[in-house]
Amino acid sequence: MGRRHPGRSRRAPPRGSSVKPCKDCSAEWGGFPSPASQRRPAPHPGPRCATHWRVEQKRRKAAAHASTVQAKYGLDPGDYDRLYALQNGVCAICQRATGKTRRLSVDHDHETGLVRGLLCRPCNSMLGHGRDDPKFFGRAATYLIQPPARGLSNDQPPPQRAPEDE
Ligand SMILES: [Zn+2]
Ligand SMILES: [Zn+2]
Repeated sequence: MGRRHPGRSRRAPPRGSSVKPCKDCSAEWGGFPSPASQRRPAPHPGPRCATHWRVEQKRRKAAAHASTVQAKYGLDPGDYDRLYALQNGVCAICQRATGKTRRLSVDHDHETGLVRGLLCRPCNSMLGHGRDDPKFFGRAATYLIQPPARGLSNDQPPPQRAPEDE
């Protein structure tokens, strides 16, 4: 937000000037070059100043992502964001990855084509390694609860907590 100076006329720089007013800065001033836009060179596409070009890049990236997930997974505009909110902004499995550095992937059932949820890349690869088989992940859970090496009588360090059970 800038302050208007109604008493003073604001003119665009002369033709051929290397400093073009940023069109987004001007738009914020009702189409007239603002004091700010006259001061800000606009070398970026648009033409835009560095600040508005960053905003525009972000908007273009989001639009490109929306059209990609629509084409690939049939997600309607806004569906990705709604799903992300449903998952409280984290990967549905590890619940650690937020997708801030790299967007969470859209995971889908390869047989039905239906979207299941959003996952970080490691969790998505883990599902692939388990061939999407719930039994695989059941065995993994059992493995952690009852490691098979407990069945060895030798070579195991003695249990720390209940020596009388040996
Ligand atoms: Zn600008
Ligand atoms: Zn994850």
